[in-house]
Amino acid sequence: MRRQARSPRPYATLRARKRPIRPDTSSSSTAASRPRRRSLPGMNVAPADLHYPFAPPEFGEVVAIAPGLLWTRLALPFALDHLNVFILDDGDGWTVVDCGAATAETEAAWRKLLDGPLAGRPVSRLVATHGHTDHVGFAGPLTALLDAPFLSSRSEWTSAVIRRLETVEGLRGPAGRFYESHGCPDALVEGFLAERARSASLIAEMPPAFVRIAEGDVLAFGGRRWRVMIFGGHAQEHCVFWSESDRIMIAGDQILPRITPQIGVNYSEPEADPLTEFLASLRVLGSFDEDVLVLPGHGLPYRGPGIRARQLEAHHASRLAAIATACDGEPTTFDVAIRLFPQAMRKAHARFAVAETLAHLNHLVGTGRLARSRAADGRIRFRPSR
Ligand SMILES: [Zn+2]
Repeated sequence: MRRQARSPRPYATLRARKRPIRPDTSSSSTAASRPRRRSLPGMNVAPADLHYPFAPPEFGEVVAIAPGLLWTRLALPFALDHLNVFILDDGDGWTVVDCGAATAETEAAWRKLLDGPLAGRPVSRLVATHGHTDHVGFAGPLTALLDAPFLSSRSEWTSAVIRRLETVEGLRGPAGRFYESHGCPDALVEGFLAERARSASLIAEMPPAFVRIAEGDVLAFGGRRWRVMIFGGHAQEHCVFWSESDRIMIAGDQILPRITPQIGVNYSEPEADPLTEFLASLRVLGSFDEDVLVLPGHGLPYRGPGIRARQLEAHHASRLAAIATACDGEPTTFDVAIRLFPQAMRKAHARFAVAETLAHLNHLVGTGRLARSRAADGRIRFRPSR
């Protein structure tokens, strides 16, 4: 069986990076021990009163955070510049959770890991938390290289397969009309399409087949049993893996420290209300004890899922209140975004800010506080319900 076949190509030189923080050994963060902020402008919440017990590994190196549980980081070519990957010791092999975007740097990092800390044993499986570019972009090449199965929820595999086919030309009609109907100027729309197509281009051909993970499944890997919880909001069927015996949760992007997971509405489902699903997930994840170690897709592992869930709930509640009061005068989504989040709209995150604003508007429509209508000019406008 072909496993971990070696490529004759030399490894790319890995970027040397300065370690940004020291480990926080106190029960709450101090200003000096807080990790450097790398968060998306306009999408931050207040600094978290969470406990971060581990300093991050250098890109391509590993840190042990529990027996048989390794943490590495891969570089990402986005504003959010890293992905956390967790690698679990199965005795006779390894289970890998998430794998990075399809870039030469990701490939070089995997070759370094496979020749270094993971050498000598095969990778038994690649598990996806969800199907976004930064988490599964390299899944096809990696599973082919390793001859390993790919485990994913059904919607996340399907959505990545579809997403990677997106191009600027293909998006121009449907996504262009969507942004136009929400009041976005043409000059911005072209940039949005290019950005989305670039993200799609960083998904390599997906694994042609997958092993489905579903709500309530119990998976055995890394010497532990993991109960699967599936949530909407950030993705359609985002997987979170819970080890009750070790009180560890592999959480992907469902409940991140320091930044809010993107809760956005896009052209393919313009009336979606992902915020309702996300808030429901926070009620579940927030009910876990504060000593649970959460392993997120970005940022640092932390303890305090309940604190974090309440911060995120408060963040969205204040956004909802601000957006609801900004809807006198029947604004478009773009009008609301530019009025309330001018800083985010000036930067590279305007597309996310529009998508997030629409998610909040749709939630307010769904809960009866706002009404949505299409005006004679084709623009979709929001007003308080009467
Ligand atoms: Zn992510």
